[in-house]
Formats: sequence, C-alpha cells, structure tokens
Amino acid sequence: MATSKVLPKIAIIGAGPAGLTLANLLYKSLPSSSLPVTIFDLRSAPSASTLHTPSGSLDLHRGSGLLAIEKCGLTSKFKTLIADCSEQTIVADKSGKIWYQDNDQTGDRPEISRNALTYLLLSSLPPDLVCWNTKVLSVTPGSERKWKITFGNKEQDEFDEIVGADGAWSKARDAIPGASKPFYSGASYLTFTIRNLSTNYPSLNSLVGNGSYSAFSEHKALVSQRGAMGSARLYLMMSIPSSSYFSDSGLDSLPPAELKKKLLGGEDFFQGWGNELQELIAAGCDAVEDKMEARPLYMHSIGDSWTHTPGITLIGDAAHLMTPSGEGVNCAMLDALELSEAITSSLETEGGLDEAVKRFEEKMWKRSKELMEEADQMKKIMLEDQNAPQQFCQMFKRA
Ligand SMILES: Cc1cc2nc3c(=O)[nH]c(=O)nc-3n(C[C@H](O)[C@H](O)[C@H](O)COP(=O)(O)OP(=O)(O)OC[C@H]3O[C@@H](n4cnc5c(N)ncnc54)[C@H](O)[C@@H]3O)c2cc1C
Repeated sequence: MATSKVLPKIAIIGAGPAGLTLANLLYKSLPSSSLPVTIFDLRSAPSASTLHTPSGSLDLHRGSGLLAIEKCGLTSKFKTLIADCSEQTIVADKSGKIWYQDNDQTGDRPEISRNALTYLLLSSLPPDLVCWNTKVLSVTPGSERKWKITFGNKEQDEFDEIVGADGAWSKARDAIPGASKPFYSGASYLTFTIRNLSTNYPSLNSLVGNGSYSAFSEHKALVSQRGAMGSARLYLMMSIPSSSYFSDSGLDSLPPAELKKKLLGGEDFFQGWGNELQELIAAGCDAVEDKMEARPLYMHSIGDSWTHTPGITLIGDAAHLMTPSGEGVNCAMLDALELSEAITSSLETEGGLDEAVKRFEEKMWKRSKELMEEADQMKKIMLEDQNAPQQFCQMFKRA
C-alpha cells in the first residue's frame, strides 16, 4: 500500500507472538523506508542457538494463527520449522490407560515451538525494529493527544498510537480506564524440560509419543509436548486455592530428590498415579540442566472489555488473558492481523485511525469472549471433572 499521508508514530510494547505478528504485517503493508513502528521488549534478543533450545509447543489453527502466518508471507518457512512436535494427540487417565489417540497428520493444527515461532517472525523484520532489553515502566498521557512511554532507564518517548502486546501484566493495560487486573484462576503449574527423552528414556519416549500426551485425574493434569532435539516439555497442572502456594510451601525451590519425593508420594500430588507416569515425573525432576518453573495461572474475567481510549489499544494476552486451551496464541495472532488491517485501511481517511481501532476492539471483544468461555470450560473439565479423560475423548471426537 502506498500513501502520501504522514503516518502515525506507533509503538508496539512486547515482542511476543502478538507484537511480532503485528510488526510483520505493518512492515509488509506500509512503505518500509518510513515505517514509523518500533517494538519494545524487556527480554534480550534471542540468539541463533535458541532455535535448538527446548521451549513449549504451540499449535496454530487455520483461520487464525496459520492465516496470520500466511498473510505475513511466511508459510513456506513455517513448514520447515515444525518437525519437533507432531499433531499426534493421546489422552489417558492417571493409571496410564489410553482413552483417546489420534495419529492423523492433517496439517490443520501444526505445532511449532515458541522459540521457532519467534525466530520465524523475526526473520522477516529489520533487526533494528525491535528494541530489546527495553522495559516499559509506564504509559501515561503525553502532549497533543499523544501517549508517553517511560522506559526502565527513565528515558521517555511519545507516540500517536500505542499497542499493548505485553502479555498478562501489561503496562499499556494499566493506562486504560476500566481495564481490570488479571486474577488468579485457581490453577497453578510446574514445568520441566526433559532433554533427549528419545535417547535417555526409550520407554517414556514410547509412552508420550511424538506429539502431545495428556493424563488427567483428581484435580491434576500431566501434559507432555515434544520439542527440539528429542526433548519433552512436561507441565503438571493442579487445582490449588492459593496463588502463592508453590513459593509459600517452598516447593518451588526444593532440590530434585526432595521434589520427586513430594510429587510422587504426597497425597495432594501424584501419589497413586501409574508407574510409567510416575517415572515421567521423576525424569522431569532429574532434568537438572533446566530449572523447573512453578507458576500460578491468571486470567481476565470472561467477556472483559474496557473504555475505548484514543491512541492506545491492546492485543493478545494483554487484552484477553485465559487459562491454556490451545487458543491463546491463535487469538493473539488473529488480533494482530485484524488490527494491522484496521490500521492500514484507516490511513486513507482523515482521523480514521481512532474509529478503525474502536471497531477492531469491538470485534475482538466478541470473538475473544467465546474463546475465554471455552478456555474456562476446558480448565473445569481438566481440573474438576472426575471423568476428565472421557470428557476430553468426547470433546476431541466431536471436534
Ligand atoms: C503453560 C502455558 C501453556 C500454554 N500453551 C498454549 C498452547 O498450547 N497454545 C496456545 O495457543 N496458547 C498457549 N498458551 C498461551 C500463550 O502462551 C499466550 O496466549 C501467547 O503467548 C500470547 O502471546 P502475546 O504475544 O499476547 O503475549 P506474550 O507471549 O506473553 O508476550 C508478551 C511480550 O511482552 C514482553 N513484555 C512484558 N512486559 C513488558 C514490559 N513491561 N516492557 C517490555 N516488554 C514487556 C514480554 O517479554 C513478552 O515478550 C499457554 C500459556 C501457558 C502459561
């Protein structure tokens, strides 16, 4: 698209899937020589080796994540990056009995690692578009209807439009009237990364297969996803009333042997689970190269919205935080696609940007409400339903 108008100066806060997708789409549609878009992220720039470092896996869906990849012109490259985790899905109960297995590779929901997705989205952007190691401290009203960002080093800059793609604890969200804070969802999780599962643990390698494996029972879920270099990422999700339980109880800093004893022998944990599942958890505790993560899961209330505020908007988790359901990243990338279309089309009309962003938000709130409902339902089945494996089995068959 070519335009002779003065383009608004845009800041995207957050170089996660939402922010990087938006940057790619704007970069493709606006005249690159004068692209007034900058992304700020508190993390360091990923090095080339991160592509081979195990990270979580994300399944991208037709009509949302995959559509955004296509619009970025990255489909061919995407296909070269999806070998680590297949689309295979296995659902079991706590004894290890399999209730559902789907080995089809339809290409409808290909899995890509988080690191590979970042690498892919960065590969088509000029390196200086992203300011790494740049923490945003606050977003406040600036001069002449602009918004001011204050950075970690106390420097400040003003922008015509700020897009908060800065995840759960968004600083952009803090600046918007009526935008609520996330609240604890009642679920917390531990993450382990077992490197070289295929060579070091052949029987566990067969157990979890080459895609996603889940076992559910008694307010707990074990989820394994395959990753780079034969690794498996293991999530142990639990229904826990207090958001600070892992730190208050000291569980998040136990040495591997004690953690294993607690998780496998504790009544509130995985005592009584099948031998192979217990071996998998033990292998996770033994995986000392990678630190265990222990985190509470937060969410926004279903159907949450805010007072439209000219010059500032939100996408991705910053806009609609939900518990993991396989939709978060897809919704975030579709937000980016729809917002990029709203921004580029508005540049043809005087004062059109604000109206276009307002229309975008209304559409996003409606779309994300349904996904938030589904995510909440999935959390309830996963962590509250006595027949979780059967319920998931039926859900997958219906889908
Ligand atoms: C355990 C778990 C498993 C999940 N599994 C799946 C799955 O299988 N499929 C799926 O679709 N979704 C999944 N999700 C959800 C998914 O990860 C998110 O929906 C997705 O990452 C949202 O992307 P985003 O770009 O909006 O935010 P994020 O990915 O959170 O990115 C935000 C970016 O903003 C940066 N940032 C934050 N604060 C600041 C600041 N103050 N200054 C500068 N930069 C800042 C961060 O460094 C980060 O790069 C899962 C989530 C969890 C917790």
